[in-house]
Amino acid sequence: MTLDTVRIDGAMGEGGGQVLRTALTLAMLTGRPLEMVNVRANRPKPGLQPQHLTALRAAAEICAADTRGDSLGSSRLTFTPRRKPASGEYRFDVRDAANGSSAGATTLICQTVLLPLAFAGESSTVTLLGGTHVPFSPPFEYLQEVYLPALASLGIRSEARLLSRGWYPAGGGHWVLAVEPITMLPARTWTDRGELQRISGIGVATNLPSHIPQRMVNRAANLLAELQVPCDLRPLRERSKAPGAGIFVLAEYDGARALCSALGRPGKPAEQVAEEACRALLALHRTGTNVAVDPYLGDQLILPLSLATGESVFTTATASSHLLTNIQVVQHFLNASIRVEQSAGRAMITVRGDGFHV
Ligand code: ATP
Repeated sequence: MTLDTVRIDGAMGEGGGQVLRTALTLAMLTGRPLEMVNVRANRPKPGLQPQHLTALRAAAEICAADTRGDSLGSSRLTFTPRRKPASGEYRFDVRDAANGSSAGATTLICQTVLLPLAFAGESSTVTLLGGTHVPFSPPFEYLQEVYLPALASLGIRSEARLLSRGWYPAGGGHWVLAVEPITMLPARTWTDRGELQRISGIGVATNLPSHIPQRMVNRAANLLAELQVPCDLRPLRERSKAPGAGIFVLAEYDGARALCSALGRPGKPAEQVAEEACRALLALHRTGTNVAVDPYLGDQLILPLSLATGESVFTTATASSHLLTNIQVVQHFLNASIRVEQSAGRAMITVRGDGFHV
């Protein structure tokens, strides 16, 4: 049976890479051919960049898809899956798409293929090489501490193991994702995060002096003391392809987890890196206990909840443009009905999923 082609204008909503990644994930799962024009039209460097091209090629490999327009800078493409997602051992290296070194965000490539692999019937292992800590994308720790646990609460068992960090702009990170099969996703509700129980985190520097992680951690501990919960922050010094630093602070509530982070750069004092992450965490904390999901997880939950069976509800501070864009893309592929109710300081998102199953 030939399925109808889904035609997407990549300039819709945010007009960034997420439109492509969400559409690819859904083309893989539904088997429907995808045609996209104006890829990443709203970005300063539009078209496929190394991260997006790697995601496209990864999706194509998993579904033995025919693709057109799969080259750097391309702003129009077609993706025609020739089989259901196949489980297995995969290896995706951003450098293959970039003709050399690149810090394209491997966490976003992972998010493109994770759900299709979870529905592929057997376990899979994916080795990813490229950026693991890249501005405007989930750092590895966010994936490990927030995104994967959120999927675990929907029954998806997976594990991510970091072997080496790949900071922007050098890249060169290396990590492995293992994912177990599921046949359907249950609906879920996250409307109340409960009380803050503890804070933990790491201040990391690679190929840099040990006072840098120590100063990040000291400053963060001072700033977070007002929360009056146990706070375990550790300095870490490692080696990687290039120098880099960052701080990753996890807040664990009774019914939710949030991770705020900041990355260093030459000339930015360690204390300032810590302040950036802690300010974000304190602001999130002040939103109140009836805001259960951080803004990043908010847009990232649209896809799994749209596939789920039944009605899910979650609350987040505001319906971000990424979240609204993801809703638009999902509705090109699935019979999911999604309601967004925004009030002062709180958006409630109700998703009646499509009931996808294998
Ligand atoms: P471009 O904007 O260049 O097209 P992109 O392909 O990286 O970029 P976007 O469409 O902007 O993608 O999507 C970025 C994704 O990364 C969103 O899902 C967003 O929630 C997530 N994200 C960005 N920063 C963080 C962060 N600090 N922690 C967790 N998730 C993040």
